[in-house]
Amino acid sequence: MFIKIKKIKNIAHKRLAIFYGISIMHRVKIIKEFLKVDKITIKVSKLHTEISTDSGIIKAVDDVSFHIEKGKVFGLIGESGSGKTMTAMSILRLVPPPGRIVMGEIDFEGKNLLNLTKKEMESIRGNRIGMIFQEPMTALNPVIRIGEQIGETIAFHGNLSRSDVKKRVLELLRQVGFEDPEKRYIQYPHQLSGGQRQRILIAMAISCNPSLLIADEPTTALDVATESQILYLLKELILGYGMSMLFITHNLNIMRRFGDYIGIMYAGRLLEEAAVDDFFNEPLHPYSRGLMESIFAFKGHEKRLKAIPGFVPRLSDLPEGCKFNPRCMYAMPRCRKDEPEVKKIGNERWVRCYLYQN
Ligand code: SF4
Repeated sequence: MFIKIKKIKNIAHKRLAIFYGISIMHRVKIIKEFLKVDKITIKVSKLHTEISTDSGIIKAVDDVSFHIEKGKVFGLIGESGSGKTMTAMSILRLVPPPGRIVMGEIDFEGKNLLNLTKKEMESIRGNRIGMIFQEPMTALNPVIRIGEQIGETIAFHGNLSRSDVKKRVLELLRQVGFEDPEKRYIQYPHQLSGGQRQRILIAMAISCNPSLLIADEPTTALDVATESQILYLLKELILGYGMSMLFITHNLNIMRRFGDYIGIMYAGRLLEEAAVDDFFNEPLHPYSRGLMESIFAFKGHEKRLKAIPGFVPRLSDLPEGCKFNPRCMYAMPRCRKDEPEVKKIGNERWVRCYLYQN
């Protein structure tokens, strides 16, 4: 068998021969592995991003791990300064100096993004990974027509003629809900409303059929009605194209309607991860419960909304032990000493809190 396989020139045939030359048990294992890998679009493992400042090293992203499956929305929730945007910037390898990624792995389509060269990364950004930013006016160039701006990304990553690029731009404008794409093509950003500009950014983000979309507070600058329209559009695109999405927001309400999984970030760390339904049925971490109680009257026991006492700590001045301990009503002596490890609760859920550890 070994000699015969060695003689096969065609690599695909050689792989098949090897595959059928092994035991059924081994084959099943390989197929399972393949399905598992294929199901996950991105896997972030033990990511650490630091910023050097005059007062020392700040851990902006501290040991963050999560993955996103195909066609799913993973919501990263947290207050300002919790490390959400820095996590996204780390994935895109756009951490501004003096920040730097010091450790971790970001598996995306079979590659660790942290090992890629600058050029290889440029071919992934805007192409395999699309980005939608918070403020559409600042993300668009005010002196370049809409059509040209969308076309730039397509031309940069693809090998299309000018007329094909234009055709693709008009198709994208239609896809994101413009009934008059020819008219929009020649307009400037200031001639559009906030919601329309956000649609343009979405068109740019999906222009190269990415497998992952990263959206950083994409609806914060919009009114409620436009926000719903944009979320509906994004959901349609995700379901239609099987894309995955990392959705960064401080708004739990949005994730309740829009997300599949949720990760709660605090002081650079992920504190809890769960499927959206499980999370809203019963948030586990005291911080998650606090967030919920500040928005919803939790489980009907309390009719008044509550605020979480205290403030988010500065990353340059974090407490010892659990980072939430100064604000936590359940804090115990060991919470002030050591940081709790991740505790798995069932298959798809975990929490970082001593209340759930023996
Ligand atoms: Fe509160 Fe302790 Fe849990 Fe931290 S580890 S959230 S301080 S109970």
